[in-house]
Amino acid sequence: MSLTLTVDGERWRRHLLDVATTHPGLVPVAKGNGYGLTLGRLARKAQWLADHAADVGHAVDTVAVGTYHELGEIAPRFGGDLLVLSPWRPFSPVLEPALARRVIHTVSRPEDLRALLTRDPEARFVLERLTSMVRHGMTAAELRAAAGAAPRRGCAGVALHLPLAEGAGAHLPEVERLLTDVVAAGLEGSTVWVSHLEPDELDRLRSAYPGTTFRPRVGTRLWLGDRDALRVSATVLDVHRVGRGDAFGYRGRRAPRAGHLLVVSGGTAHGIGLAAPTGDLSLRSRASALARGGLDAAGFARSPYLLGGRPVTFAEPPHMQASMLFLPESAPEVPAVGDALEVRVRFTTTAFDVIEIA
Ligand SMILES: *Cc1c(COP(=O)(O)O)cnc(C)c1O
Repeated sequence: MSLTLTVDGERWRRHLLDVATTHPGLVPVAKGNGYGLTLGRLARKAQWLADHAADVGHAVDTVAVGTYHELGEIAPRFGGDLLVLSPWRPFSPVLEPALARRVIHTVSRPEDLRALLTRDPEARFVLERLTSMVRHGMTAAELRAAAGAAPRRGCAGVALHLPLAEGAGAHLPEVERLLTDVVAAGLEGSTVWVSHLEPDELDRLRSAYPGTTFRPRVGTRLWLGDRDALRVSATVLDVHRVGRGDAFGYRGRRAPRAGHLLVVSGGTAHGIGLAAPTGDLSLRSRASALARGGLDAAGFARSPYLLGGRPVTFAEPPHMQASMLFLPESAPEVPAVGDALEVRVRFTTTAFDVIEIA
């Protein structure tokens, strides 16, 4: 009755160990919906990686969270330091002292450094340098000013949030320019926390800057990098035969031809959304789809549900907890109530009812 994520536990854990081993200094990122796996599970798995430091070859001593509000899910399950990726602002929540000692703040404006240290003189922080992402961070001049004012004992290094790579080594020119700013700010030899660098890019940076420690923050590649370890399925809850012209659904839409309505688990509450309609919408393609009797021509949108590896169309937009699919008469098979359908979802926007570690 549910949208289920089934994890091949052994394969997934092997992948986690593999990514950890090939990313020295790895900082697992646990944020948002926990990449579909929940924050609590990611925190436990990060602790599991920390407990396997001997296999991994280095300590996994820090987890990165997205926001201060996520700390509560992570802190009880992972024993190390907690890097908060959202920059600290004067309106950020005040932390209780025991938690505050474990947190590494991200400071992205010089004035925030002063305000943070006024609130908590013992605070640990990284200074964020703006990248081509242009999300948060300081200019070269601001970084110099902040570094000059930063107490050495609290400063845990510099943070760079890089865009997704376009190709091998694509980040290196930008990282090298930014590292020049780090050196100019007198922060040579500190830790540089980075995102979205390939292992070979990290290797090249490590040999070019032997005094600097690079720490890759990794989420997607770590948790979701081995898609074959993760299977998403929905359950067929009902099957109704419909004739051409029969009305169904919230708006009394009519079936364009005979077939079956499938009611399946998973709806807007799970993050199941309308995908783009099949094919393109040019007149010519619509005309040829019409000639074929294609469901896209009848305005039926492709759904993320698959039957025999092929997408089934939505009969109407997804409901809160279930979706209605339309299966034309020509379909080779009609599933039965209780059967499972494979579903292609975006993990970062999906809330599963059940997560089974097989
Ligand atoms: C989300 C995030 C990451 C991790 O990104 P993935 O693509 O999931 O690996 C790293 N750094 C920052 C600042 C982020 O917000």
